[in-house]
Amino acid sequence: EKINNEIVDTGEQVTFDDIAGLKHAKQTVNELVIMPMIRPDLFTGLRACPKGLLLFGPPGTGKTLIGKAIAHESRATFFSISSSSLTSKWIGEGEKLVRTLFAVASYRAPSVVFIDEVDSMLTQRKADENEASRRIKTEFLVQLDGAGNGRKGQVLVIGATNRPQELDDAARRRFVKKLYIPLPDQDGREALIANLLKKNDHTLTDAQLAQLAKDSEGFSGADLKILCTEAAMGPLRKFGAKAVEMNSKDVPPISYKNFRQALRQVN
Ligand code: ATP
Repeated sequence: EKINNEIVDTGEQVTFDDIAGLKHAKQTVNELVIMPMIRPDLFTGLRACPKGLLLFGPPGTGKTLIGKAIAHESRATFFSISSSSLTSKWIGEGEKLVRTLFAVASYRAPSVVFIDEVDSMLTQRKADENEASRRIKTEFLVQLDGAGNGRKGQVLVIGATNRPQELDDAARRRFVKKLYIPLPDQDGREALIANLLKKNDHTLTDAQLAQLAKDSEGFSGADLKILCTEAAMGPLRKFGAKAVEMNSKDVPPISYKNFRQALRQVN
């Protein structure tokens, strides 16, 4: 029941077009996992889809988005879990959930099992490890070994982490393919801002967009989303409490000035 209600993700569908920048990651993922999941008959032997893929890099750079896009593009069922949804104070319950998760994923194959913050479930730290989390870790590794070909296709396990160095050695070995998801570069930031602005009216020129991308060096995709959301509030903010009475046609477009103010705020 928990797996159906919380873990199978039938929410928003993410396509590759929704992911700005990350050209190298998209290309790699396409060749490495999406094509093999769609055509397992062509991708056999050395070309076979790996059982485990690790996405690592700074927070907010689109790892979860890539996981969702892989599931969508490869027409697979998407299971999304965070380590905290598996840890249970009852010894034995977490591992039962892990077993059930893999059984359902195999039944619904092709499937993508996405584990956010995989380092906290598969940590190498022994000191604060209790019996329950040790057993979850062991069960997870056993299941990962058995994953791969489900009843009707591939079960791919994708782990995402900001701290790959914290991963248990045995776990790291099982994620055969590891892909670094970096902070966006100038072009990536420009594409991200342009993408985020698609749903609102704005007056930004290409040169202004490029300047904003330059001035937001070091921002992640998540940071840029905060920046754009802040800028988007600008046109309404000057009307204060009266904004709620406005006609939607009278809302001014988002301007470069709104962005300059938002940059100061976010910085
Ligand atoms: P964390 O490590 O914190 O879990 P993450 O790397 O999984 O982060 P996401 O959750 O995928 O990051 O992205 C955070 C937000 O930033 C998302 O809402 C997404 O809309 C936006 N975002 C990040 N990178 C991109 C990108 N390349 N293209 C489009 N949106 C992005």
